[in-house]
Amino acid sequence: MHSNMFLIRYQEIGIKGRNRYLFENKINSNIKKALYPLGKGKIKITNMRGRILVALGDAEPSKAAEYLSRVFGIATFSPVIKIVAEEEAIYQSSEAVMRQALERKGIKLGENDNVLTFRTNVKRADKTFPIRSMDMAARLGSYLLDNIPGLKVDLHNPDLSVSVDIRDGNAYVFSEKLPGPGGLPLGTSGKGILLLSGGIDSPVAGWMCMKRGVEIEALHFHSFPFTGEKSKEKVKDLCRVLARHNNRIKLHIAHFTDIQKSIQKSSCPEDFRITVMRRFMFRIAERLAAKNNALALVTGESVGQVSSQTLENMTAINEVTKLPVLRPVVAFDKNEIVEMAQKIETYDISIQPYEDCCTLFLPKVPITTKPSLDKIHKAEESLDIDEMVNDAMEKIETIYITSNS
Ligand code: ATP
Ligand code: MG
Repeated sequence: MHSNMFLIRYQEIGIKGRNRYLFENKINSNIKKALYPLGKGKIKITNMRGRILVALGDAEPSKAAEYLSRVFGIATFSPVIKIVAEEEAIYQSSEAVMRQALERKGIKLGENDNVLTFRTNVKRADKTFPIRSMDMAARLGSYLLDNIPGLKVDLHNPDLSVSVDIRDGNAYVFSEKLPGPGGLPLGTSGKGILLLSGGIDSPVAGWMCMKRGVEIEALHFHSFPFTGEKSKEKVKDLCRVLARHNNRIKLHIAHFTDIQKSIQKSSCPEDFRITVMRRFMFRIAERLAAKNNALALVTGESVGQVSSQTLENMTAINEVTKLPVLRPVVAFDKNEIVEMAQKIETYDISIQPYEDCCTLFLPKVPITTKPSLDKIHKAEESLDIDEMVNDAMEKIETIYITSNS
């Protein structure tokens, strides 16, 4: 008996009261989208109060598990065997599940005095099943002890557990709980514009917002011909990784060279240039947000990481937008961000060498770490801000990136 079904658990959605069905619909459609590459129409998704059942048909379970592990909102999921909720059927399926688990772990009981500790868990959501949960768990434990030599019960720290979830006249038997990414279903918290550089921090920031249900459109500032095709490709690669959670990412590429040149030529003091450049990035991001119904900006800034990320500079940069600026890694140390980047598989892409649009126009003097707003306004005095932003908006290119495009 091989499992071609997954029982999916989510946690936080349960506490959303009347909005619950919106969350359930969203996680359902996100699961459907995630499994779409395994074959159209093959996969059946059923909502069962508090759980989701995915029937794979003949789709590959290990691939499905990989895709499900990336669907935000999923807390855990288990390959299950579904049977009618009858005592004898539960015993037999549980034995099969136990034997599969032993095989998976490469354990041969009975040889070399091998002993494996186990426990059983029975949850009876369906009270029409005549045996109480505790009693059924005990009976199932005895059955397994009688039928598989080398087992020993350990309720507190077992090597393995066999669980039975009884609901709506059926029983779901499983021994594995695989981790999902947690969080909230993508798309249930509105949309944000992610300022995506080729660095380590911003992809992590994007991922963290996605995990909280925020859909992301990425915006990258490119300084052609000073930054080449390679740095564009790098950003596309990062989007490909993020798109694994969302099927596709809308990527906007803004041309930043003219703005940088104008700033360089202007009366803007050198030590204010980076901050002024960042203000232009935010202005453009805000305009793009309005155009695409996004409600927030997202950046990879972290307090004090570099001199443009002091609270004073953040204040100066924030001044140009009314939108909330989400900075999920704001209080992370660099090594903590690196760890996350490795976990979400953006790190290896981020560390490839590339030219950053800002370092190119880096002034020779250190950047002011405590600019006053007055001085910033004065630094921008000679710039035709509206025209510069309008011009950049007109030249934005938009592409869709899928995980395998
Ligand atoms: P990252 O690792 O994300 O590049 P960083 O530590 O290098 O961040 P900065 O270069 O100061 O920090 O950039 C701060 C934030 O500004 C970035 O996290 C990103 O959100 C945004 N940003 C910087 N450069 C660009 C760019 N070329 N295109 C889009 N966003 C950018
Ligand atoms: Mg950077």
